[in-house]
Amino acid sequence: MENKKVYTFGNGKAEGNSEMKNLLGGKGANLAEMNLIGVPVPPGFTITTEVCTDYYTYGQEKVKEMLTKDVNAAIHNIEKLTGTKFNDAENPLLLSVRSGARASMPGMMDTILNLGLNDEIVEGLSKKTNNPKFAWDSYRRFIQMYGDVVMEMKPINKEDHDPFEEILDQVKEEKGIKLDSEFTVEDLKDIVGRFKKIVRERTGKDFPTDGYDQLWGGIFAVFGSWMNERAILYRQMEKIPDSWGTAVNIQAMVFGNMGSNSATGVCFSRNAATGENLFNGEYLVDAQGEDVVAGIRTPQEITLEGSRRWAKLAGVSEKDRAAKFPSLEEVMPIVYKELDDIQFKLEDHYRDMQDMEFTIQNGKLWILQTRNGKRTGAAMVKIAMDLLEEGKIDEKAALKRVDPIKLDELLHPVFDNNSLKTAKVIAKGLPASPGAATGQVVFFPDDAEKWHNDGKKIVLVRQETSPEDLAGMAVAEGILTVRGGMTSHAAVVARGMGKCCVSGVGEIKVNYKNRSFEVDGKTYKEGDFISLNGTNGEVYDGKVETKVAEMDNDFTLLMDLAEKYTRLYVRTNADTPRDAAIARKFGAKGIGLCRTEHMFFEGNKIKAMREMILAENSEDRKKALAKILPYQKEDFKGIFTAMAGLPVTVRLLDPPLHEFVPHDEKGQKEMADQLGVSVEKIKQRVDALQEFNPMLGHRGCRLGNTYQEITEMQTRAILSAAVELKKEGVEVFPEIMVPLVGISHEFEMQEKIIRDTAEKVFHEEGMRVDYKVGTMIEIPRATLTAHKIAKTAEFFSFGTNDLTQLTFGYSRDDIGSFLPTYLRKKILKVDPFMTIDQNGVGQLVRLGVQNGRMEKPDLKCGICGEHGGDPESVKFFHRVGLNYVSCSPFRVPIARLAAAQAAIEDK
Ligand code: ADP
Ligand code: MG
Ligand code: MG
Repeated sequence: MENKKVYTFGNGKAEGNSEMKNLLGGKGANLAEMNLIGVPVPPGFTITTEVCTDYYTYGQEKVKEMLTKDVNAAIHNIEKLTGTKFNDAENPLLLSVRSGARASMPGMMDTILNLGLNDEIVEGLSKKTNNPKFAWDSYRRFIQMYGDVVMEMKPINKEDHDPFEEILDQVKEEKGIKLDSEFTVEDLKDIVGRFKKIVRERTGKDFPTDGYDQLWGGIFAVFGSWMNERAILYRQMEKIPDSWGTAVNIQAMVFGNMGSNSATGVCFSRNAATGENLFNGEYLVDAQGEDVVAGIRTPQEITLEGSRRWAKLAGVSEKDRAAKFPSLEEVMPIVYKELDDIQFKLEDHYRDMQDMEFTIQNGKLWILQTRNGKRTGAAMVKIAMDLLEEGKIDEKAALKRVDPIKLDELLHPVFDNNSLKTAKVIAKGLPASPGAATGQVVFFPDDAEKWHNDGKKIVLVRQETSPEDLAGMAVAEGILTVRGGMTSHAAVVARGMGKCCVSGVGEIKVNYKNRSFEVDGKTYKEGDFISLNGTNGEVYDGKVETKVAEMDNDFTLLMDLAEKYTRLYVRTNADTPRDAAIARKFGAKGIGLCRTEHMFFEGNKIKAMREMILAENSEDRKKALAKILPYQKEDFKGIFTAMAGLPVTVRLLDPPLHEFVPHDEKGQKEMADQLGVSVEKIKQRVDALQEFNPMLGHRGCRLGNTYQEITEMQTRAILSAAVELKKEGVEVFPEIMVPLVGISHEFEMQEKIIRDTAEKVFHEEGMRVDYKVGTMIEIPRATLTAHKIAKTAEFFSFGTNDLTQLTFGYSRDDIGSFLPTYLRKKILKVDPFMTIDQNGVGQLVRLGVQNGRMEKPDLKCGICGEHGGDPESVKFFHRVGLNYVSCSPFRVPIARLAAAQAAIEDK
């Protein structure tokens, strides 16, 4: 409690600076810094974030006692610098009270302006400025803001309007006027009276008249707002700890509402949406605070060029524009010039795009805030590359400037911002795969294909998805599932496809029979339009316009730069030539995981696969598999060709066989007819395959070790494809990967089958290819015995999905029932299927690598779980010493950037 609690700033001096964001909050630290570099800022002081913690530990009274001396001294300092006096009617000083956390937080309290007014002081202000309209306008604003924020004048119920806005509307109606600026002094006095009355009625308290009472009320309201619902929610989303606390900034008021020579506005040193290097912003004459963003009057552009562009978009003629909506550049050219100089200066100083707030009081410019501006993914990339080119930052800084996650935005279609403003949210789920989708609701994958072939855009709505739904998913604009988390089948597949997906939308009740779903009392039928926002998990009623995201030169530059610094390489998880090609375009250095199960589904393959499953002896199984062989070979040729010159890791069949047989009567009947056997027989076999715990059942290498024909067939398909391509002059580097190994013998047995088959193939074809045989490490036991497995395995690929599942003992398909509670109660900090659990699962990865390399020092190690596309996890894998990560095609650039950042942070 002994630390310095209050930091003053003003007239080119400051006790703080921009390095002190943790203590002073972002706003306070930058207000101090601006003073130090000669930017005009009204004097004031900052109460530290530590006091916020004290507030919650010791309570209001104690904090007031602790602070009073320092606050009073700081107020005197402002009085001295401004030549005015607080709580005094002769020569009044008014204050603003502003919150300010380390990171800017839109969930926090609204700012209070014009604090320090009462019935006498307003008259004093009126006399001093000779501007009663301004004085009374300020007073009514103050009561409104203070009433809202400190006295909590909330609407009584949902239908109720803001009580103050209601009064303003009433008076406007009575007077037959439209704008706030048209109020006369008498109107404003009337309004102030009515405001005070409603405050008394609603709160049972009189509006406080003493300036110091007002001030303490304001300070406590800021601290109190740290724990309001909005703020808590925002912190959860942004992973900001509750312990940070907010600072309070108290500052002398400057007035943009003093008439036609005054104004207020916001501006950016570059375009926050596109990154274009063009100063831009908006302002309003004779206005205060957030009037510009409140949307009551149409704000005007700051620069002439911006103004002309705006007019074009808004369909306003040049004549009208110049007359009604002139730019600041035209209206106040001298102040404009000064503002332009300052925006350059601030950007140079902070070496990043600045978002600034300013007020002009009687022709004098004041800057009220500056911060590194929030921006879209596209702007983030462009600005970083531009600043690099301009020599303002170096390569490493440029790489660090881009948040890998934000690259996602550049890779998927996006909603048009304007359309989003009017879109109606009907439900919310998990943002499983980013992007935007609008289409007609369809419930069944085969319908999805039909509708798609008819040229319709569809959104596939499912309780959950399974591999059988793939074709339907592939043609959908987006996928909505009622169940399932961020790594559910739907989520993983959608991300792989670069397709928008919202999962876990529990509010929706799907009725497959009626082909409809119900949400919030409304029924949506097949064919109705909905839209999905895979970026925030929202589901909208009807159509919302989308636009295609563009990839450009800056993006390529960024990726080249990443390549230069990275040590960890990025491969992709791809099962089709199309995915392989996309990933390659994004810079993937091969395939880290090619799953083969989908190759058993389409057309005739599934029939042969089912014959194989029904077969009662090895001979029959071989016959059935022989039918699949040519198809698989063709599939591999396609993928190898798309990845020519780069390694392709093919995983042998992994899922349990029951996934390949129909579970409904209709399907079983069809299968019986197809194969010419009785339905009974099919039923029996399906029942026999049924497992209590398929995830822990007969799958992975357990299949290949019980039905070695499967491994033989797959090896043959892989290597004969490779040989044929080699004959055609295509360079191929196949790596055959055995899944779900827990015991070294399991691997050794599979390896023997693979090598024996390989020799046969090479002998038959009269040509050899280089290939590797390695294993997934995804069972905890395998990490503990990795040195034994490494005796024969040529590479390890950590399957962190299964490894997480088996280490935690969580079924990733059932995690939805408790994960939200676990996250809320902070039992888990993050979903371990999204970000690698460094202390547990991550340590097993580390151990596996160590054990493996003990046996084989240059053992190539990678990972191919979903974590390969998560920046934080990628950085961890870099530190563990993996050679590569593998992720879905659309995550490749994200992983590449994260890998480069990890390399930079390493040094
Ligand atoms: P936020 O954190 O929501 O941006 P601010 O604390 O920046 O809130 O305050 C919002 C607006 O209030 C500012 O942009 C500015 O227009 C106005 N404002 C704040 N302090 C002052 C002041 N001392 N004088 C004049 N206007 C102010
Ligand atoms: Mg602000
Ligand atoms: Mg696995």
